[in-house]
Amino acid sequence: MDITFWGVRGSYPVPGPQTVRYGGQTSCVEVRAADGTGLILDAGTGMRALGQKLARESGGAPHVHHVLLSHVHWDHIQGLPFFEPAYIPGTKIAVYALLTASDELHQVIGGITRHEFFPVPLEAAPAQIEYHEVDPGVRMQLDGFDVLPIALNHPYGAVGYRVDADGTSVAYIADTAPFDEVLHKQHFLRGLETLTDEDRSSLDQIRADLVAALVGVDTVVYDTHFLPDEYKRFPHYGHSTPEHALEICGEAKVRRLVLYHHAPSHDDDLMDEVAKSYRAKGAAQGIDVITSAEGMILKVGPP
Ligand SMILES: [Zn+2]
Ligand SMILES: [Zn+2]
Repeated sequence: MDITFWGVRGSYPVPGPQTVRYGGQTSCVEVRAADGTGLILDAGTGMRALGQKLARESGGAPHVHHVLLSHVHWDHIQGLPFFEPAYIPGTKIAVYALLTASDELHQVIGGITRHEFFPVPLEAAPAQIEYHEVDPGVRMQLDGFDVLPIALNHPYGAVGYRVDADGTSVAYIADTAPFDEVLHKQHFLRGLETLTDEDRSSLDQIRADLVAALVGVDTVVYDTHFLPDEYKRFPHYGHSTPEHALEICGEAKVRRLVLYHHAPSHDDDLMDEVAKSYRAKGAAQGIDVITSAEGMILKVGPP
């Protein structure tokens, strides 16, 4: 199994001279098994280039694509209307997501192509697009992949995914805050309230389930949007630091951690420093830390 990073930014795209080396497109990762089947994790703006590659590979022939969304914030769905296979008749796109609002998924995700925002509604695309709700803790079999959705702590909820195939595994953990404040049930503008006993136990449960799901995983891609001083200023945004990721991966005895969902303000020079310093911190803990960059392809499995 290998994974390709098509977009590694959080929040919004930041192409330009300051981000040429790590990339400016938002969240999108492709997983490929040895038999050639694939999964797409998140549909940020990086999905556009992935769609071009997939359309080229298939020579314009229809295909089935599985798209697993962490949640439906813009930086995780904006590439969907620009995904070239959506315009190939006979193609099927199965979108999986957590439903946290009362609206139907097709309305929420299709909302980005409402006529006020976009010339062509997603429902009018030639491909057949279908929506599936995921349930944290309930496994799914997609082609040869065994997929486990994992609850995360992000405003109004998000899910991570553990993917097992080819005798190895990868996990995709975006977006999540650490487990000190309740974010998964609310919008941050409501303010962080004092934790009730019930809140504390629900956060402890989410954290314990996450660690349990990551045990034995070879490679974990984790939301490390913030550096520690930034996190202190914005704990309610719903993102973690590399320290938080190392703590979780250390408990789960993960072999390799990939830093991901980089803050848009982190230019290439800063990212070089981040990569160097956390590589050393990871090594001290026995974890191989890699910083994701657009276009990077990683082989999953023991070295
Ligand atoms: Zn995000
Ligand atoms: Zn988000």
